[in-house]
Amino acid sequence: MASRIRPLAPAFRTLPRTAAARLPSTAATSSLAAQTAAAARRSLSLKSFFTSSKPKSDPFTSQFEPVLEQVNLFHPLSKSPLPAVRSKAEWINNHGTCPVCKEHEPEEKSKAPKYECPDCGYPTHCSEEHYKMDKGNHKHVCGVLREVNEDEHDLRSGRRMKEFEFPGAQHRDEAVNLSNWDTFLYTRGFLSMNSERSMRHVSHVLTYPLTIGSVLHQSSPYRLGKDLTVEGLKSLAALRHTLHPAIIGGITQAQDLRTTATHTVRIFCLGARAESHLPPHIYMQLAYLFPNTAFQIHFIGPDAIPPHTKSKDPHQHVHYEQMTFVYDSSRYEAYHAEAGPFNPYYDIFFLFSPGLAHPATREMWKPTIPLLLDTKCAIFGTGFDENDVMNDVNEIESSGYELDWLMKPRENVFRSLKHEINMTDVRQSAQCNWGIWGIRGRRYDVRPAEE
Ligand SMILES: [Zn+2]
Ligand SMILES: [Zn+2]
Repeated sequence: MASRIRPLAPAFRTLPRTAAARLPSTAATSSLAAQTAAAARRSLSLKSFFTSSKPKSDPFTSQFEPVLEQVNLFHPLSKSPLPAVRSKAEWINNHGTCPVCKEHEPEEKSKAPKYECPDCGYPTHCSEEHYKMDKGNHKHVCGVLREVNEDEHDLRSGRRMKEFEFPGAQHRDEAVNLSNWDTFLYTRGFLSMNSERSMRHVSHVLTYPLTIGSVLHQSSPYRLGKDLTVEGLKSLAALRHTLHPAIIGGITQAQDLRTTATHTVRIFCLGARAESHLPPHIYMQLAYLFPNTAFQIHFIGPDAIPPHTKSKDPHQHVHYEQMTFVYDSSRYEAYHAEAGPFNPYYDIFFLFSPGLAHPATREMWKPTIPLLLDTKCAIFGTGFDENDVMNDVNEIESSGYELDWLMKPRENVFRSLKHEINMTDVRQSAQCNWGIWGIRGRRYDVRPAEE
């Protein structure tokens, strides 16, 4: 098992960035930023999520004239009407793996995958001959590849993406149910969630804010005994004390929380990549879960860059309704000294797919983890599959830190339902924030000495 993760990890470590590359656009968010919280529903153009700035004449970015019908979403990658998909085929042709060659041929003789499986459309093998030899293995991944193929064409089909018309603030009397994606989307009034495809699209965009929200919220799906340790419940109770204050009389929901909120909750995302590139309005779905709380989200790391910016400034702030976003590309040690002191009632850390054990990032995390444990604040981490999660967990356990587990590693209820394909070996796929775990630096109760 452990041997499988080694070749897999480096490719996936770059996945969040690949995903982020599909999120840019300039005009969409700056105009959105001006919209108010009161807007009942936001209609978000497909453009703002999945296309880069292309010439206006490009038919594939047109929102109102669908270029691909729903019955016409499957295309062999190399023959796709979408240039982005065709270039993906080229990339796999150049950097992919033919599993039969890999197994049976010396490296200099193994050939690149050029042959496209007729059922999923991916270049999977070097030739039809090797494809046929390997069909028994390929059938286990073919279904996921086909799904990803159709999803990608759907995202760029030009249809009106109703599933991205997100609801605004929730009414005080409404209760949100965070048991799973279905109940969350239903109780929050998301539209058109009647297909698994829509769920995959939306969960992919919302996995970061909802992973955070589902841990923090009093209606969290994670329960004492089953998922949370006693220490975990204590840590979250402290944060919930701040997040769910008794409603103060006379303050209306629409009032500016920066002046009425009793405390600001700070969420620190370390080693931030894709999570920092999401447009701020996506994080409003986290803020709506806590209508009385003001948030600061700090994205820290060399890839922590605000969406839709050309600025090279290493430290930037964006204010958006009840949230402030801080983007900082400096080393964490320096940031830590400036952001402190930390308080377990107001501060929490998230490490999204950090790769604590990964050779490329392991050393980078070494000085950081003890600093985080020192704060006695809750620290939550995620990983893109079981191996990735367990590698991080084993790294933590073997490092001899003085810590308590808050949440033992488990599947994340709010993982992305979308599969990300490893383009260097399409047999492998992963899901963003598949698993989750939580730790905290150990606190010692003051007891009289025994001797
Ligand atoms: Zn081959
Ligand atoms: Zn196939």
